[in-house]
Amino acid sequence: MAASPGELRSSDAAARVKVTEIFHSIQGEALFAGWPTIFVRLTGCPLRCRYCDSTYAFGGGTWWTIDEIVRHASTLGARHVCVTGGEPLAQPRCPVLLEALCDAGYIVCLETGGAHDISVVDPRVSRIVDIKTPGSGECARNRLENLPLLNSNDALKLVITSRDDYEWARDFVRTHAGLPCPIFFSPSWHDVSPRDLAEWILADRLDVRLQLQLHKLLWGEAPGR
Ligand code: SF4
Repeated sequence: MAASPGELRSSDAAARVKVTEIFHSIQGEALFAGWPTIFVRLTGCPLRCRYCDSTYAFGGGTWWTIDEIVRHASTLGARHVCVTGGEPLAQPRCPVLLEALCDAGYIVCLETGGAHDISVVDPRVSRIVDIKTPGSGECARNRLENLPLLNSNDALKLVITSRDDYEWARDFVRTHAGLPCPIFFSPSWHDVSPRDLAEWILADRLDVRLQLQLHKLLWGEAPGR
C-alpha cells in the first residue's frame, strides 16, 4: 500500500543509497530541459563511456537514507527531481527512492545508461534511457529488452561522437521506427559540432530532436551545476 504524500513506509524510509551529490540547478537535457531541478546523483557505474562527464561519481559517495533525501529535497525549492549518476539503477534501492520522491509530490525523472532493466521503475517516473553508440565504447551493453517497455512519458538519448556514430544512430532509429517516446541526439561536447549534427539530421529528414546540453552552455563542465 502506498504511503500518504510526504510520508514513507518505515522500511523504505530507513533504506539507504550512496550519493555523490545533491544540488539545485537547471535541467540541461531531454524532456524537462530548462526547468529548475533538484539533482540526486547516485554513486557508482559499471560502464566506462569514453566521453563520461561524471567520472567523479564512480567511487566515494555518502550513504543517505531515503527519508533524509526526501527531507533535504524539500529544502531546495523545486518541483522537479532528477535522479542521475553514475548509473542509478546499479543501486538496488534506487526504485525505492524514485517511488518515495513520486509519493512526496515531485515530478521525477531518471537518467539511466540503458544497461539495466527499467521495468523496476515506478510508472510515474520519466525514464531517460541512453542508447550507447559505438563511439562510447559501451555499445555492447545496450539492453534492447528495454525498448518495448518505453512509453510517451520516457525518452531515448544517443550521444554522437563522430559522423560514423551519427550513421549508426540514424540506422538504429530507422530500424526501431515507431517507438512511443521522443529520441534525442546530443553532440558529444568536444567531438562533434552542434551545427554539423543539425545539418546531418536535416539532410536525412530524421525524426529526432537535437539536444544541446543547456547546463554546459551555461556553466561549462563544472560539477554540481
Ligand atoms: S553510463 Fe553514464 S555515468 Fe556511466 S560511464 Fe557512461 S556516461 Fe558515465
